[in-house]
Parts: sequence; structure tokens; C-alpha cells
Amino acid sequence: MDDFLVIDRVSKSFGALRAVDGVSLSIRQGEAFSLLGPSGCGKTTLLRMLAGFETPDSGRILLGGKDVTGLLPEQRPVNTVFQNYALFPHLNVWENVAFGLRMSRRPREEIRSGVDRMLELVRLSEHARKRPAQLSGGQRQRVAIARALVNRPQVLLLDEPLAALDLKLRQHMLVELNAIHEQVGTTFIYVTHDQGEAMSLSDRIAVMNEGRVEQVDEPEALYETPRSGFVATFIGDANFFTGMPVELKHDGYLRVQVEGLGSPLVHGSGFVSSHEPVRIMIRPEKISLTLERPQSGERVNAFRGVVEDSVYFGSHARYHVRAGEHLVIAQLQRSRFSGGGIEPARGAVVWMSFHPDEGRVVRLEGAA
Ligand code: ATP
Repeated sequence: MDDFLVIDRVSKSFGALRAVDGVSLSIRQGEAFSLLGPSGCGKTTLLRMLAGFETPDSGRILLGGKDVTGLLPEQRPVNTVFQNYALFPHLNVWENVAFGLRMSRRPREEIRSGVDRMLELVRLSEHARKRPAQLSGGQRQRVAIARALVNRPQVLLLDEPLAALDLKLRQHMLVELNAIHEQVGTTFIYVTHDQGEAMSLSDRIAVMNEGRVEQVDEPEALYETPRSGFVATFIGDANFFTGMPVELKHDGYLRVQVEGLGSPLVHGSGFVSSHEPVRIMIRPEKISLTLERPQSGERVNAFRGVVEDSVYFGSHARYHVRAGEHLVIAQLQRSRFSGGGIEPARGAVVWMSFHPDEGRVVRLEGAA
């Protein structure tokens, strides 16, 4: 079902500031969806409107076809896992998870089986009698998730769920969260400013910037075909070159004249007008470096440059290569060096090349 949770032209201002500006999104039932963006882009405000803690100035929120915009938080089939987990320190794990069911006066047997089932799901059954202070950060978070899921909400909102955990635990919890989501099948909506987290947790991601949605897509599509400079730099690293379009080919590829780089051929999607300069984007790892000019042919873009600097990262290395006014970043896997590749020294003259499919036209405005 495509229109399970519909956010329809929702706006929210605080004084003169438009925190959320006409956002429309359609989230599927059972989907793991992320709101991703830099601090202040409005993602928490949007999440709070979904939970019912804030009311939109305009627009509607529909859940399963029903307008929930004006409902109180407790009237919505939506629960939230807060960043600080908000557990009751004086109650043990079992009682924390049981709390909501007890408040809604569910039968004793239903509470017992519901809580036991949830503790099993988050693998905390053997810690049921411990208090929150006796648990690790990751365990505390799993209690918060169990507590939010126990009354079977239709949507679970998770606000920066991994922010309070150290790096190792974060990586572990990514796997745990995916497993929990898969088992319960509830719609999960994450708020995060961490692109890696969003990419690993989500079926789809909405990238937000200054209160608006820049692009909604699957993680791979966001990385491979970002539509704006903002998305390209927020999700991964990118080289940008601005030039004039000189030829649109029948097969949809576009030749762009870029000062200092010749006239590379790039993927033409996103191209609008031949009278305006365009901006093309190439990921650092899509650029090959060779000492010899690569076997050309129309389908290879190749240009020369001088290595200014290189930075070693263990599994890969990054090169800063000067080509006219451009400083191009190329990233090479270490294993490529032994496979006949090169390990160019500072000052070396090298050829940079990329396939036309790896160069994309992105919007000029909204660039980071
Ligand atoms: P962060 O990751 O830092 O939490 P965010 O993307 O979640 O950022 P929001 O918390 O939604 O951003 O805030 C969006 C904008 O609205 C910010 O400029 C923030 O200062 C402002 N804002 C949020 N809540 C309020 C409020 N209650 N009163 C006034 N301004 C607010």
C-alpha cells in the first residue's frame, strides 16, 4: 500500500522561521523510512508533527486513509523512541515494557505474554529484572524499543536512535534494528543527520534541507543519481564541474565543455536547457588514475592532471589532482595498486578518466 502514511503539504513556522515548508511525502506500510538532513533542517519538527507533539500550521497527515492531523499523541496509533530513551529509572526492564499496557488496563495475561514476547524480540529476557542503570546503552535502547512496540503501534518513530551510543555499539545496533524491523513489520520512521545510518537502516530516505524535501529515493539511487548538489555532497563526496552543454546525443548523453577538462560526455538525465551552464557531478571513486592515456574511444572521458597530494586511509587512498583551475578528488582502493594500477607520487603527471555513465547533471541551485 503506497499511501499508508501521507504527509500532504505540511508547513510549520516558529515566529518568522519556516521550520517545515510545504513537505509532502507518501510512506508505505511496513517501510523503514528515514528523514535525513543537517541540523536545523526541520526533520525533528516533522517527526513531532507525526507523533502529535506539534500541530502543523497548514497541511494534513493521513494514516491508513484517516486524517490524524488534529489528534492528540495518545489518540494516534504511533509511538516514539526518544533520543534519551526516557525509561523509568525506578522500574525494572519488565515493568518498563509493561507500563503502557498497564495504563491502558489490558488483561493481566495479555500483558504478561505481550511483554515476554517483546523482551524475546529484543533479546533481553534474561535481563528482565534489572533496572535501567544496570544496563548498557545498547540494552537500554532495546528496552525503549520494546516499550514502544508492545502495544502494537502502526508506526514507530525513532529520533536519532543511535546518537547516544559509541561507534562499535552503533554498528551493532544497526544490525539489531534491521532485524527487529524485519520481524515486527511495523512502519519505522527514523530521524537522523548521519547519512551512513540512514543508508543502512532505510528502504527509502527523504533528504531535507531548510525545511524542504530535496529528494526521496532508495539509498542507492540517492548515491548514484542525486538530483542536486546538496544531495550529492550530503550523501558521500563529489566532484563538481560547471560547463556549457555543446551537444545532446540521440542516446541521451550530453557533451559539456568544461574549461581545463575538454568536453566530457556525461549522462544527460536532469539536463534542461542548452542555453544555461550545467553542473556535472562525479564521485571520487568513479575516477580512474593511470600513467598512460587510457585506451580511448568515444565512451571514455580522459584528461591530464598533476598529483598535488595524497591521503592514505588504510583500505583506500585519496588523490588531489590539479587540472587547470580544478582540483579533482580521486579515490582508489588499495587493492587496485597491486593489480597493475599505479600509486602515483606527488608531482606525477597522470591521466584521469571516467565513463559517461558516471558523470551526472545536477541542479545548479541549492548547492552545498
Ligand atoms: P537537529 O538535528 O539539530 O535536531 P532538526 O533538523 O531536527 O535539527 P528541527 O529541530 O526540526 O531541526 O528545527 C528546525 C528549525 O526550527 C531550527 O532552526 C530550530 O531552531 C527551529 N525550532 C524547532 N523547534 C522550535 C521551537 N519550539 N521554537 C522555536 N524554534 C524552533
